[in-house]
Amino acid sequence: MTKTPATLRRVGDLIDAGLVAVERGPELERVGSRYAIAVTPEVAGLIDPSNAEDPIARQFIPDERELNHAAAESADPIGDYKHMPVRGLVHRYPDRVLLKPSHACPVYCRFCFRREMVGPGGDGMSPAELATAYEYIAAHPAIWEVILTGGDPLILAPRRLAAIIDALSAIDHVSVIRLHTRVPVVDPNRVSTALLRALRSPKAVFVALHANHPRELTDEAAAACRRIIDTGIPMVSQSVLLKGVNDDVDVLEALFRRFVALRIKPYYLHQTDLAPGTAHFRTPIATGRVLMAALRGRLSGLCQPEFVLDLPGGHGKVPIGPEYITATEVSGCWDVMDYRENLHRYIEDGESADPNPILKGS
Ligand SMILES: *Cc1c(COP(=O)(O)O)cnc(C)c1O
Ligand code: SF4
Repeated sequence: MTKTPATLRRVGDLIDAGLVAVERGPELERVGSRYAIAVTPEVAGLIDPSNAEDPIARQFIPDERELNHAAAESADPIGDYKHMPVRGLVHRYPDRVLLKPSHACPVYCRFCFRREMVGPGGDGMSPAELATAYEYIAAHPAIWEVILTGGDPLILAPRRLAAIIDALSAIDHVSVIRLHTRVPVVDPNRVSTALLRALRSPKAVFVALHANHPRELTDEAAAACRRIIDTGIPMVSQSVLLKGVNDDVDVLEALFRRFVALRIKPYYLHQTDLAPGTAHFRTPIATGRVLMAALRGRLSGLCQPEFVLDLPGGHGKVPIGPEYITATEVSGCWDVMDYRENLHRYIEDGESADPNPILKGS
């Protein structure tokens, strides 16, 4: 009988697996003592050790540059702590909250925006803390959607996950439960019948899959996503724009086409957040805009994600993609760019050319 290979969690494991050169050991030990390491067998199997620029390795194998902390970087890059009314719950937007039952992930991404908060260990929410979070949600009727994140909610035992889904489903005003996960890609066998049963709810359940490179979407990952979708759970994607991983129009094209072919709607492409030691991953915002404009010219509308920046300080996500329309000096007269990047003058009719519409409720 062969033993199921285990997740690699120590620099020594990475060296033994041939994924890291011995001489990098001491420096990477320092990285590993600061930021958790985990590489599942599926991810390890995707890495080409002969390629120093391997886009999978770059996402998961620790790097010496993680110890360089730039001035603009912050341990809480998107202001989670400012909006945490109870432990494990972030309430930034009126209609939705994040709930973080577990702080552990199946893998630890080297660019993670919550890298100072995630990791193995007893940092998850206790039953009492979860009960407090449910009370908070129940007491705020404006909360329409609960987003399970963390950490990765799909590494919870199915029984624990089912209890959370049931408790949230029992709150009348919660209509949508969304789970953000990497599990179907990095540990597809976890998407078991028991896990799928745990996700059953009378409310709308969505799964948002985090993947950044088309090579992550293997046949096994595709099968795990198919199992989720075939139980009636729609999927969306989120990706992070990462230097040396996917800052290339052909790679992004392949990624977004693959998502859609798997029935996963591309949702967000994130500008890399200002988390400590991640400068080597960040591309200029201008690069992302050029890539997005190129994709607009090439890809079906179904394949287009929104390019977003999560503002430091907890001010939320903002679309920062290229602009296609600019106002001219004449009211009702616009300059509009088509997908071939040709400019057109567009003139509205007089009635609709009101530059200051009144928004209901504002
Ligand atoms: C990202 C985020 C959400 C979800 O935002 P969407 O735009 O709905 O995907 C909700 N709350 C917080 C605190 C977030 O950071
Ligand atoms: S799976 Fe998500 S939360 Fe976990 S390390 Fe990766 S980016 Fe961070």
